[in-house]
Amino acid sequence: MWRRVECVLWGPLSLALRARSTSSRASVNASQASPPPSPHGFCFELSAQQQEFQATARKFTREEVVPAAAEYDRSGEYPVPIIKRAWELGLMNGHIPESCGGIGLGVFDSCLISEELAYGCTGIQTAIETNSLGQMPVVLAGNKSQQKKYLGRMTEEPLMCAYCVTEPGAGSDVAGIMTRAEKKGNEYVINGQKMWITNGGKANWYFLLARTHPDPKTSAGKAFTGFIVDADTPGIQMGRKEMNMGQRCSDTRGIVFEDVRVPAENVLIEEGAGFKIAMGAFDKTRPAVASGAVGLAQRAMDEATKYALERKTFGRLLVEHQAVSFMLAEMAMKVELARLGYQRAAWEIDQGRRNTYYASIAKAYAGDIANQVAADAVQILGGNGYNTDYPVEKLMRDAKIYQIYEGTAQIQRMIIAREHIDMFQQ
Ligand SMILES: Cc1cc2nc3c(=O)[nH]c(=O)nc-3n(C[C@H](O)[C@H](O)[C@H](O)COP(=O)(O)OP(=O)(O)OC[C@H]3O[C@@H](n4cnc5c(N)ncnc54)[C@H](O)[C@@H]3O)c2cc1C
Repeated sequence: MWRRVECVLWGPLSLALRARSTSSRASVNASQASPPPSPHGFCFELSAQQQEFQATARKFTREEVVPAAAEYDRSGEYPVPIIKRAWELGLMNGHIPESCGGIGLGVFDSCLISEELAYGCTGIQTAIETNSLGQMPVVLAGNKSQQKKYLGRMTEEPLMCAYCVTEPGAGSDVAGIMTRAEKKGNEYVINGQKMWITNGGKANWYFLLARTHPDPKTSAGKAFTGFIVDADTPGIQMGRKEMNMGQRCSDTRGIVFEDVRVPAENVLIEEGAGFKIAMGAFDKTRPAVASGAVGLAQRAMDEATKYALERKTFGRLLVEHQAVSFMLAEMAMKVELARLGYQRAAWEIDQGRRNTYYASIAKAYAGDIANQVAADAVQILGGNGYNTDYPVEKLMRDAKIYQIYEGTAQIQRMIIAREHIDMFQQ
């Protein structure tokens, strides 16, 4: 029941977490943030530091995100003041290493924060979390000067970045992307079209995947290259903000790249290494996506429980009808197991082990249960659940994307099956 841990460390913690000056930033580092190894080898206890991260994120969410969420959903406006505040509190960009002015958090700690933010609004949480997705290829594969330049600037001001891979003709089938990058002297010239890019219109720079090998028979592991592209480079044309079913304040766009010239020094690792970089990032970001889905599901369950404790039918509170209380029990089972799923996936990669299997299980399961729990919450609220005066209809709309972005529910199952069969045959 660690969700119930309440903490009153807001003032001092916000100072420690904010860590915006180089002197104070050193106060929170990766080694301090990691839980101490359990003498028994298995431990559900959060460290004091992790409880502080969680409590800070929870307080910020309850006080500043929850009250603003419905209006951002209605207007579709990008949540700039909330993002700025999250940045000030140190609740975003946690993966940026200390060498670039960041706080170098592990995946587990970052997930604790994103679950809390998602409880308030997954549109806002997705905007924030997409910075991690855009940054991750640079964290994993950037050289020192690329990291200092592009990650470093994000610790100095609240900038956004984006992960530019999907195209109108290729989403699940990443190897089917058509954007081309051709080497001309010391530059690459990029032509193509990207689609569904979160933070697309707000990013300061993009991680972009393009084909550099023209031969269609070249394997994916050699045909693509990862670039860092400044968003103000001439030739970049931004599409309109897409009006999506849910997470409506998040900024999703198509982007056209027409003769966009990128210096060769912005290639990650080397030509041909891009596919592995782009896919490798997911091992670190899928646990956080799963944690967002868990935050949404927890909120739906809490709203349904609150309502069921107040609403009477046939002379009894809703919770006193067994059919309703069993729905709440099912919700609780799903939320608790999905939380364990993302925590295992995050913990595995923080131990330095390959976690692809766990990350896909966590993402697929949390995405599915977020949809089930949100739909059940609407059911428990009856007619009110279907109305915008109550938060659960938004939760149901917001939940759907968790089965689509960062690899659909079907693609996760393909990965899990492949990993499972490989392990079985070893
Ligand atoms: C709101 C939003 C934000 C997004 N943000 C980003 C972003 O920031 N950066 C980015 O690069 N992309 C982003 N995406 C793109 C997202 O990752 C893709 O939409 C997703 O990967 C699915 O690709 P697709 O839409 O082309 O669907 P398709 O690949 O065409 O799939 C359509 C359906 O077929 C299923 N399917 C496909 N292939 C198979 C198969 N082999 N076996 C079984 N079923 C299959 C899929 O699961 C899906 O249900 C975003 C999308 C949305 C909607």
